[in-house]
Amino acid sequence: MRLLLIEDEKKVADFVARGLRAERYAVDVAYDGPSGWEMASAHEYDLIILDLMLPGLSGTEILRRVRKKSDAVAVLVLTARDATAEKVENFEAGADDYLTKPFAFAELLVRVKALLRRGPVNRANVLHLGDLELDRLSQQVRRAGKRIELTSKEYALLEYLVSNVGRVLTRTMIIEHVWDESFEGLTNIVDVYVRHLRAKVDDPHPAKLIRTVRGVGYCMSDEPEP
Ligand code: CA
Repeated sequence: MRLLLIEDEKKVADFVARGLRAERYAVDVAYDGPSGWEMASAHEYDLIILDLMLPGLSGTEILRRVRKKSDAVAVLVLTARDATAEKVENFEAGADDYLTKPFAFAELLVRVKALLRRGPVNRANVLHLGDLELDRLSQQVRRAGKRIELTSKEYALLEYLVSNVGRVLTRTMIIEHVWDESFEGLTNIVDVYVRHLRAKVDDPHPAKLIRTVRGVGYCMSDEPEP
């Protein structure tokens, strides 16, 4: 796996690069916007870790250019602020995930692994499955046109499931993607949250979208159940 890290704070960049290399990733580092874009356009990376505030060329502009070139590369954005408007702008520009500074390396590593593991993704802002509609920007969910209120964890779980329609997701995959490193070991947490989701998303409707794959995990589908 080849990663590109674009970060002008040298201390942060070197610390992150060292940690990722210890995890056996090949890591290239750029310390400013223009050289970051030059490297991103010259090589095929599996993942780009992108700071937003960069000298010479902003992270958001690099992201736009990267997405013009490729949909395949995963982009994890680092931001000093937890600003919603900025997040929306960058999600629209094609960011896959966010990490707010300061962060622990372990947290970064969890996100990096999850992004690299999940493979090709659907980058549409509005996801559909049958009569279920999920808007990633407003984080609103509707079924048969009716708004469904979800907690932020329920939303994150549903988004992960709907982003991977037809694919069986193990409990481990779900935990790695939806929970973070502060999560401690209750393996039935996934089942508990899926139960909450079913109550809101599936129970009021005849067609069930959330499927249990016995002994493995969960899967979403709008095909009739066998
Ligand atoms: Ca910066």
